[in-house]
This record gives sequence, C-alpha cells and structure tokens, in this order.
Amino acid sequence: MSRYKDEQCRICRREGQKLFLKGTRCYTDKCAISRRNYAPGEHGQKKAKLSEYGIQLREKQKTKAFYGVREDQFRKYFEMAANKKGVTGENLLQILESRLDNVVYRLGYGSSRPQARQLVNHGLFEVNGRKVSIPSYLVKAGDVIKVREIKKDKKVVKENIEVNASRPVPAWLEKNATELSGKVVRLASREDVDIPVEEHLIVELYSK
Ligand code: SF4
Repeated sequence: MSRYKDEQCRICRREGQKLFLKGTRCYTDKCAISRRNYAPGEHGQKKAKLSEYGIQLREKQKTKAFYGVREDQFRKYFEMAANKKGVTGENLLQILESRLDNVVYRLGYGSSRPQARQLVNHGLFEVNGRKVSIPSYLVKAGDVIKVREIKKDKKVVKENIEVNASRPVPAWLEKNATELSGKVVRLASREDVDIPVEEHLIVELYSK
C-alpha cells in the first residue's frame, strides 16, 4: 500500500476529524477524511480504546493542531489562561482565537490557518497602522487588522478574497471587504468558538 504523503491531512486522520488545514481542498471530496477516515499507518484502522489520560491528551493535541501551536507555546497560553479571571478552558480558547494568524483566517484573508500564518510571516498585514509579522501576536478589542497597501494587489490576497467571500465571519469580528480590513469588536467568547473541542479535558490534563 502506498504511503499517504500529505502531512497536514495525516494530522486530521490521526485526530479523526477535519481540522481544515488545507483551505478549499478541505471542502471538497478530495479531503482525506472524506476518503479514508482512519488513522494513518499500518495499524490505523484498528480502534484502540483510550485511557482517560489518552482522551485528554488527544483533545490537547487536536486543539494544538487546529491552531498550529507548538507544545511550549500552548503551555504558555494555558498558564496565561489559568492566571486570568474566569473559566480557564474558556480563557484558553479566547487566547488561541486572539492570535493574529487565526484572526486573519477568520476574516477570510487566509484560506486556512497555516496559510494565514505564512501570510502574516511575509508581512502582508498591519495592526492599527503598523506592520506586524508575528503570527502569535495577540489582538485586543478595538484593534484594526488590515492588508497592507503595498500588498493588496498580490495574487494570493485577491484569490483569498474571492474564494472566502461566503465564509461567515464570527460575531466578535467586523469585516470591511472594501478596505481589506477587519475590526476586533470584542474578544471571542466560548459561544463564538465553533471548533469541536472539550476544553475541560485539557484543563484536567494540565492539572494532574
Ligand atoms: Fe486534509 Fe483539509 Fe481534509 Fe484535513 S480537512 S484531511 S487538511 S483536506
């Protein structure tokens, strides 16, 4: 059997669900999850029964994969969340949603979070009029994110605007498609986060 070479799709298959890491392909029948929804590798089709720890670990790994965050960074976000007022799991999701690469994706200026991260890295965006090329930059309420004037004619920008025009923008963001910008009306609340994650499992994992 030939080896399935697409690394991002392998991550989805390992987690058993769509993580939307490849943009428009994720919405087509070329999606690996639609074609073979079982873990990659020789024993992928055997369903192992997970321990409580295993379930918590998979939930964390899945959430990291959704947002494209490394372990050390994720741990740092957890500590920030635990030190904030409110429910730790919800705070964690709010912090993850506030990353600039996620905001660019949510506004439809990136087709996937990995692509949005790449575009931020390449300096396509400004926040409140200043260039920001750090994907992990955390936005605040009132911030305005915009495609930089000198980058707005780039092919990838035009393609993303067209392809993602019908993708809904969450209520905590306000998109201005004419200006190629978006405003953070407020930070994301739990109800705004549409990814299938049980954040309490992550809190339980880190609280051991
Ligand atoms: Fe690949 Fe996207 Fe499908 Fe995931 S959701 S398996 S990244 S095509």
